[in-house]
Amino acid sequence: MLLPPIHGRLSIAGEWSPPRDDFESLSPADTAQVVGRFPQATPEEVSAAVAAARQAYPAWRRTSRILRAECFDRLAQLIKRDQEAIAELMARECGKNITECRAEVIEGLHMVQYVFGVGRQGIYGDVVASEIAEKDSFVRRKPWGVVAVITPWNFPFAVPLWMLGPSLLEGNTAVFKPSEDTPAVGQKLVELFHEAGFPPGTINLVHGDGTVGELLVKDPRVQVVLFTGSYEVGRRIQELSAPLPDRIVAAEMGGKNAVIVCLDARFDLAVNAGILSAFKTTGQRCVSASRILVHEKLLDHYAEAFVSTARRLRFGDPLDEKNFAGPVIHRAALEKIERYNAQVRNTPGVEVLLDGGPVSPAQTPGCYMTPFIYRTPWRSDLPALREEVFGPHVALIPFRDDEEAVRIHNDVEYGLSLAVISEDYRRIRYFREECEYGMGYVNLPCIGAEVHLPFGGVKRSGNGHPSAAGLIEVVTHKTAWTVNHG
Ligand code: NAP
Repeated sequence: MLLPPIHGRLSIAGEWSPPRDDFESLSPADTAQVVGRFPQATPEEVSAAVAAARQAYPAWRRTSRILRAECFDRLAQLIKRDQEAIAELMARECGKNITECRAEVIEGLHMVQYVFGVGRQGIYGDVVASEIAEKDSFVRRKPWGVVAVITPWNFPFAVPLWMLGPSLLEGNTAVFKPSEDTPAVGQKLVELFHEAGFPPGTINLVHGDGTVGELLVKDPRVQVVLFTGSYEVGRRIQELSAPLPDRIVAAEMGGKNAVIVCLDARFDLAVNAGILSAFKTTGQRCVSASRILVHEKLLDHYAEAFVSTARRLRFGDPLDEKNFAGPVIHRAALEKIERYNAQVRNTPGVEVLLDGGPVSPAQTPGCYMTPFIYRTPWRSDLPALREEVFGPHVALIPFRDDEEAVRIHNDVEYGLSLAVISEDYRRIRYFREECEYGMGYVNLPCIGAEVHLPFGGVKRSGNGHPSAAGLIEVVTHKTAWTVNHG
């Protein structure tokens, strides 16, 4: 059903700006469908949003944890009330299948519920005993001030909540810039925050492209930048922040993730884990696998089963839950993925097993692609094997023994997620210890998250590990001692 375009607005100090039509958010499933029209925030508007957050900060910081947590309790009720509408908006705007969008709304809800619970407990070591008998000591968690939250399009509801939830709970205030590809979902989230009773200025919304994000990052009144997105943008944010000595930057970035299929693996489980890791969300998760390392004695059999399963996957209308996955986010992404496919096709010694790619515009008005699968010995000179492709593109790579699998696994600059498929505990433990990654799965796909567990990686995958329990970047500490002279 065609819906009227949403009117995009900025939210500064609790006020919604008049709508402006500076840019459009298009549905990747049919690029003729306009999901909404949005204002690109000007430098003055970005500055006003930071000023509003700054102004709201002292009162919010002094608000009791009980009252702050009550706002989150109301937010949870509102998310439950609107959960299907949010999921449908997300499916239309970012093209993820509706079943995944529903799961993402639930993940966001879980984060809010968890934050509510933690808020009431006030936990995390406000009391730390002194080592000296005569002294009493305690450590207070303190908010930093204004937090900029800059997020990607692929998890437009849950990722902002992973960052906004702990930040606001701890007494910080926020300026939120959603991706220019998913501004409607970002705006819906801020509407819910307002309705839940968060005071004016505690959460502000600026729309626009990377230049708006950059204006935020350059503002010295922003004390913390919580970023999730690509390595290239994260690196730029870190560089821009370097001159500010007490600026905290937590950057969650990309991956070049792998599934390692051992000779003792349960075969069907290994195929299933590989397929879900590579093609769920059309390969557009930070944790998606674009490398499947398979023991050389298993590879022929595995490749046959993997390719025949991939051929049967249905990529289509995101609102139809019978489809496995939807389109890629936009035409520029499709063209980038296809450039990697072409690079592989033109590389000698590489065997293309399933020559997928863009579905012709004559057949669809959307940005649909089919899986591209190839088989190659490990080689470090092929960019497609080392860079984040972020689409339905995967390599099957043989290995001789566990040591070689570890060497191949670690021979990339990212380290986000890994799955090991094996029945041998010693082997699993070896991979756990020797591979460089942040999140490891055994006999599961390498995708997934739980809100109370740290989510993040190493190397180019970043330095942030947000979770309701672990987002330490949103607080600083004050330590106090008193001496008992008696
Ligand atoms: P992106 O291009 O890096 O953009 C992320 C955010 O940064 C967007 O809001 C973007 O705005 C903004 N931005 C762009 N240039 C900027 C600049 N110079 N200064 C400040 N902000 C700037 O990433 P994406 O394409 O949206 O998302 C896909 C990427 O996110 C992949 O690399 C994926 O692996 C990663 N990701 C990582 C995690 C994780 O937890 N590690 C989770 C999800 C996604 P515009 O969109 O308006 O350009």
